[in-house]
Amino acid sequence: MRDNESVSPTVQDLTLSEESSFDLLVVGGGMVGAALARACSGKGLRIAVIETRAPQRDWPPGEIDLRVSALSRASQRILARLGAWERIAALGANPYRRMCVWDALGGGSIHFDAQALGEPDLGHIVENRVIQLALWEALESSPDITLVCPASIAELERTDAGTRLMLGDGRTLRGRLLVAADGRDSLVRELSGIETEGRDYDQRAIVANVRAQEWHEETAWQRFLPTGPLALLPLADGRCSIVWSATAERAAELLAIGDAAFSAALTDASEARLGALVVEGPRAAFPLRLQHAKQYVLPGLALVGDAAHAVHPLAGQGVNLGFLDAAELAAAIDVAVNRGRDIAGLWTLRRYERARRGDNLAMLAAMDLIKRTFGNESPPVVAARSLGLSLTDRIGPLKNLFMERALGLGSDLPPLARPF
Ligand SMILES: Cc1cc2nc3c(=O)[nH]c(=O)nc-3n(C[C@H](O)[C@H](O)[C@H](O)COP(=O)(O)OP(=O)(O)OC[C@H]3O[C@@H](n4cnc5c(N)ncnc54)[C@H](O)[C@@H]3O)c2cc1C
Repeated sequence: MRDNESVSPTVQDLTLSEESSFDLLVVGGGMVGAALARACSGKGLRIAVIETRAPQRDWPPGEIDLRVSALSRASQRILARLGAWERIAALGANPYRRMCVWDALGGGSIHFDAQALGEPDLGHIVENRVIQLALWEALESSPDITLVCPASIAELERTDAGTRLMLGDGRTLRGRLLVAADGRDSLVRELSGIETEGRDYDQRAIVANVRAQEWHEETAWQRFLPTGPLALLPLADGRCSIVWSATAERAAELLAIGDAAFSAALTDASEARLGALVVEGPRAAFPLRLQHAKQYVLPGLALVGDAAHAVHPLAGQGVNLGFLDAAELAAAIDVAVNRGRDIAGLWTLRRYERARRGDNLAMLAAMDLIKRTFGNESPPVVAARSLGLSLTDRIGPLKNLFMERALGLGSDLPPLARPF
């Protein structure tokens, strides 16, 4: 996949027991942490990214990973400005031009079309490992970024002067601002004493790649079943990547059965909208949780991405929210640097928190409401939601408003996400 000769030599190997100082310590070089570090590059800051797992560099031609994300236009712009989109497009970004959502019980449905919005597409389905690799390569070409990988943190000490991070192998790093981008089970969040609120959905999202009898029409299909939504996301080679949310019990059954039985159950769950579906390759399942950190910032500390919020994947918003976090935090740091203010002070960090917390909370609440509404089998609720879907489908301006918001075409975007 990649020409290893072109890897820049900027990855520094910190020798054991050496203590190195940085302005910015980013724990977690996943999609969001890597985006944040890259967005802060070129501002005169010394940045370290501490990541447990190096990204996958290559894979067999034609293989599609199980983990994919539906990226919004706002995310695409952020990734383009960070110098990663061109590489993502070269490795494989699958545009989807339409979306069709329908209710398994009430018969209501809604359709979205990029053409009606004057847009070339509604977004792209991209493998997480592709996004990760493109961003990682951008980090490797940034001389002000030190990649500390593989490494994980063992302890952290936060004082007014900054953070001291002890790595599992004994190395120590100091930094003015610590950013937790270490995912839903963030150790940095836990060690910093930030609590979360939310609940377990008692649902698992099953992911797999499937071949459909009929062409997917570059459409993202989503059927709401009382047991959870099923999404069929179109891939350029004609296959679909599925995200099928089901109760923990049902998910265990669906993982245990053979390919033929799974394919039959899947075809049935999709109402055979694309004809018979045949699973190709492995299946995996991810537990789903609604989770929101009670605080995003403390003096010297900020949480971004899943470390701050975990959302039901039914509308594919998680990493899109995370990229907006990264773009807003980078914008707040930019303002601080330009005005000679402390990047780790609450004046800086609260700008970020104010910009993102309300938006993220609104999205978490909306996804939770949709999940609960479509999980309800009571006839009046079924009738009302189906009517709501179908009415919204017929009211053009309202529908476009939803879509513009989902695409990230709003006006209150951070500089990195604004139109070119
Ligand atoms: C089934 C499913 C489908 C989804 N589909 C979509 C979608 O279509 N669109 C969308 O926007 N979102 C989607 N999401 C959500 C999306 O995957 C997450 O929001 C996203 O991965 C969060 O990125 P992150 O970088 O914040 O965290 P993570 O992806 O969890 O990355 C965290 C990184 O930190 C590293 N790390 C962890 N602990 C440490 C440590 N102690 N020290 C050093 N490094 C550490 C990890 O190795 C990892 O690289 C989906 C989620 C699921 C489960």
